[in-house]
Amino acid sequence: MKYKHIFEPLDLGFTTLKNRILMGSMHTGLEEEKNGIDKIATYYAERAKGGVGLIVTGGISPNIQGWTAPFSARMSTNKHAIHHQKITEAVHKEGGKICMQILHSGRYGYHPFNVAPSKIKSPITPFKPFKLSQAGIKRTIRDFVNCAKLSKVAGYDGIEIMGSEGYLINQFIVKRTNKRSDNYGGNYENRMRLPIELVKQTREAVGKEFIIIYRLSMLDLVENGSSWEEVVQLGKEIEKAGATIINTGIGWHEARIPTIATSVPRAAFTWVTKKMKEELSIPLVTSNRINMPETAERILLEGDADMISMARPFLADPEWVNKAEAERVDEINTCIGCNQACLDHVFEQKVASCLVNPRACHETELNYNQTDHKKKVAVIGAGPAGLSAATIAAQRGHFVTLFDSDKEIGGQFNIAKQIPGKEEFYETLRYFNKQIELHNVTVKLNTKVSTNDLLKSDFDEIIIATGIKPRELKIDGIDHQKVMSYIDVLKHKKTVGKRVAVIGAGGIGFDVSEYLTHQGESTSLNVDAWLKEWGIDKSLKSRSGIEGQNSTFHSSPREVFMFKRSKGKFGGNLGKTTGWIHRSTLKKKKVQFIGEVSYTKIDDKGLHYSQNEEAKILEVDNVVICAGQIPFKELYRPLLDAGKKVHVIGGADFAGELDAKRAINQGSRLAAVL
Ligand code: FAD
Ligand code: NAP
Ligand code: SF4
Repeated sequence: MKYKHIFEPLDLGFTTLKNRILMGSMHTGLEEEKNGIDKIATYYAERAKGGVGLIVTGGISPNIQGWTAPFSARMSTNKHAIHHQKITEAVHKEGGKICMQILHSGRYGYHPFNVAPSKIKSPITPFKPFKLSQAGIKRTIRDFVNCAKLSKVAGYDGIEIMGSEGYLINQFIVKRTNKRSDNYGGNYENRMRLPIELVKQTREAVGKEFIIIYRLSMLDLVENGSSWEEVVQLGKEIEKAGATIINTGIGWHEARIPTIATSVPRAAFTWVTKKMKEELSIPLVTSNRINMPETAERILLEGDADMISMARPFLADPEWVNKAEAERVDEINTCIGCNQACLDHVFEQKVASCLVNPRACHETELNYNQTDHKKKVAVIGAGPAGLSAATIAAQRGHFVTLFDSDKEIGGQFNIAKQIPGKEEFYETLRYFNKQIELHNVTVKLNTKVSTNDLLKSDFDEIIIATGIKPRELKIDGIDHQKVMSYIDVLKHKKTVGKRVAVIGAGGIGFDVSEYLTHQGESTSLNVDAWLKEWGIDKSLKSRSGIEGQNSTFHSSPREVFMFKRSKGKFGGNLGKTTGWIHRSTLKKKKVQFIGEVSYTKIDDKGLHYSQNEEAKILEVDNVVICAGQIPFKELYRPLLDAGKKVHVIGGADFAGELDAKRAINQGSRLAAVL
């Protein structure tokens, strides 16, 4: 067996986990949906069937004060527990094991009843917390213990106590948020009293044969967080208090260092868990940006951890474990770390899903059943929209031919993958190539399809997925030799000068600026270089892993000036959980943001524009246009008029605010009903 460490059972004394893969806790939004329990039971059952060793649910609050948002999931009554039995039964039926995460959000609670050790508002929520009184702390401990006992009634195999990411327990532990002077504040013994009491009293209440995972914040990545010595001391106390397993937490939500975004290298933080392994004897779980079996196997082989936690990879592919076991790794639909359909949705209070797998969290309504009426289907365009439509239609039994004028499949993903930090996009293309092979899609590359070709053809269904055209601007001098499009830069690799104006500050403007300010190997492929960039101290001598450290991004080979016409902050339309990373990276590379402008002309001198009614000139070598896209669907109307059964998807349908999430979702949903 290729991945023998992944598939080595883990004996916990009273129970055995069948492999070393833990599905990490993720809030999906289904928890609060109407009939959400049925949907979430199906969602977890699919992952259990897919072979996961142990599932941890999204966070469930032990009381109202601990809610993440108003009316978020809570377990404090017998009725709640009975309700959850559907989940545990569904998972157990598939041979899986499942723990419930108990999460008290403390001052991160997005509601007016939130509480914390001290009355200090978090930078990421508008609500100032109430300070917990001594009686309030005792009540909170009782609520945690009650919640754990109820989780047993619900049929869970154990619980995870959320002690990291800056939630209530973390808030007690560090001076940053705990200014108390009673026996829960002040010195470290007092500040760590809450988690120790929680674990001790929970263990007494649930008995020996119940899994207790404690998620330990091993690296806070915020000023005035824990020192490494403090984290070790707490880890030892938690072990003594009766935890079965310790899971790794990296970074508070308010930390300004990326911890799971796609630009974070794979397994960027396993060295932290490895260091903790020298100190503790119970099994340790490592996490963050582990998405493929090779990485997981290497971590276990090298002894960095006893188990691997992956969360988002199970949205992308519920069968990840079974595919790894059968050594069908090239069939894994890899999580690309984009956050676009998972975390971003949760932060927007929408049900989570996955950019590469729109079925995630929609298992009860989106299914790709075998068809009784096999049809001949033509898909024109092998970008994300066309690829998803073609492969799912073929998987359902249709005879599919996929055309693209390019020499390779992928559409704009072939441009996106060039951006440093977006290397994971290669995996999506590898996945689709394999799906094409598995489901016998006939692929015709280097084939520009015309209306006539399709009018003459005998396809039963035609899907137009021809994507977009870059928006052409009507600025005086737009044909000047200094001007180029993002396609010239990223695809045709035209030489770009030392001073560059980028017109447009959408996703592509940011990506092009990232590309132009980069030199050498992508640090997303080199953990040590990436840690240095973000000022993370691998020796762990710095408090929180960052204090006293400087971030050291390499200097940019070019001066880049990014322009937009509109008001508001640059990158305001980028992903909620990732936009700040792009902004921060470009700032560190000294990109200048120039907003609220109108463009006048481009000539030998450079870019002429006006700002606040003042005419200005920026001398530049090149002007790169990244001013949005328009649909490219000239094939559609004539076919429709000729009575052909024709559909249009992705950018060809509507280019505004188009991203791969919408393209793949639309392609998949069309193919599901064809
Ligand atoms: P396309 O990807 O444009 O594919 C259309 C295909 O149709 C092309 O391959 C083209 O060759 C083919 N075609 C056109 N006409 C014909 C014809 N007549 N005959 C045959 N073939 C034809 N999205 C995200 O969600 N997240 C990101 O991080 C992200 N980053 C990006 C970074 C960059 C630099 C770029 C350029 C795009 C990025 N995108 C991102 C956007 C994403 O790639 C697009 O939204 C997505 O590719 C649109 O998919 P599509 O299938 O509709 O069109
Ligand atoms: P976009 O996000 O719509 O941005 C277009 C930019 O062009 C805006 O900044 C706009 O700014 C400017 N613009 C629009 N019309 C203009 C005009 N007539 N003259 C001058 N400027 C004009 O589009 P995009 O950057 O081309 O990206 C295309 C799609 O790919 C996006 O929808 C995006 O979701 C997706 N994408 C996503 C990511 C990601 O990381 N998630 C990365 C890359 C691309 P002003 O109107 O303010 O001038
Ligand atoms: Fe991974 Fe992106 Fe899917 Fe989230 S949306 S699970 S980050 S691929």
